[in-house]
Amino acid sequence: MFGTTRVSLNDNLLKRTSDAEVRAVMGHEIGHYVLNHGLRLTIYLSLLLTLGYLVVARVMDWSIARWGARWGVDGRADPAGLPAALAIMAVFLTLLTPVQNSIIRQAEAEADAYGLAAAREPHGFAMAAMRLSTYRKIQPGPWEEILFYDHPSGYDRVKRAMTWLAENQNAADVRARVTANSFGTN
Ligand SMILES: [Zn+2]
Repeated sequence: MFGTTRVSLNDNLLKRTSDAEVRAVMGHEIGHYVLNHGLRLTIYLSLLLTLGYLVVARVMDWSIARWGARWGVDGRADPAGLPAALAIMAVFLTLLTPVQNSIIRQAEAEADAYGLAAAREPHGFAMAAMRLSTYRKIQPGPWEEILFYDHPSGYDRVKRAMTWLAENQNAADVRARVTANSFGTN
């Protein structure tokens, strides 16, 4: 927005990884920009929040009709009802976490695919994914991934990187990289 678009690569990435990994991560981040994920996620998550406010309004009306007198809350516009409204929103957002995670994870998987095709560094991408396993479980179960993961798992990312390599191993630039074993040394 307003020409503020930027890709920031953090110090740990730049200091602790090979150039191949930095190129792979950069390709992924550029993918978010090229594929318009900022706008798309803003729209999707706004729709989710709009649904949340609708749920809050309905449940508040129902709650006030039932307990309003005991709470001393006259209606939705009464500020005394704010704690209840926030509690309802918190429950809604918790229940909808898997949906939110899946919306984001889908965009992340797209950026992965773009990054592999653009940076052409499958080994670098796989290695960066493995490094993330220091704080992310590398191979979650399918439900675990749907419920808790807002990025594809390391297992999935390495597998897709190697599938991409298998499909593109005859491209001259990819063959040159694998033959020179540039991964990890540059
Ligand atoms: Zn991403």
